[in-house]
Amino acid sequence: MADQENVGAGGENTVQDGSVVHFEYTLRLDSGEVIDHSIEGEPLSYIHGQGQLLPGLERELTGMAVGESKNVSVEPEDAYGKYDPTAVQAFPRSLFPEGMPLEVGMVLHVPDREGNLYEAYIQEVTDEEVVLNFNHPLAGQRLHFSVRITGVRPATPEELEHGHVHGEDSHHHHDHSTEEGE
Ligand SMILES: [Zn+2]
Repeated sequence: MADQENVGAGGENTVQDGSVVHFEYTLRLDSGEVIDHSIEGEPLSYIHGQGQLLPGLERELTGMAVGESKNVSVEPEDAYGKYDPTAVQAFPRSLFPEGMPLEVGMVLHVPDREGNLYEAYIQEVTDEEVVLNFNHPLAGQRLHFSVRITGVRPATPEELEHGHVHGEDSHHHHDHSTEEGE
């Protein structure tokens, strides 16, 4: 028994800060509805400990080994935040360009006076106004992830520096100009 407990614990094959982790997942809401999942045979990858996953999910993956599965429920506070009823605003329809399709559920990028863009989705359209909801569509939702770890390895210094996972097979150096602001 003692041996079994030690297998994988704390070694390079368990998820820890600086690990490149590959995992498959299914994401459900409280209702059981599946709203997202990884594609069969194409696990997601990320570098652990860099805040690339929802905090409530990343925390729970720490220490897991390849082949392990886990169900992780994440409260709204650790996911996309509580639902803010005041973040729903009605705008006169005349503010929107004529001919612009306005459909419920559409996501818009709305600029403020300084030109910062905020994401909102259309909640309601009437003849006079368009109601925009600035909450994340998953705000207020508890998220249930079913996760299976399919690979763990230490990140390379280059990956740690870039803050993302490089492909297994290619020494690719992709164009970083956009993300590094060159
Ligand atoms: Zn890179």
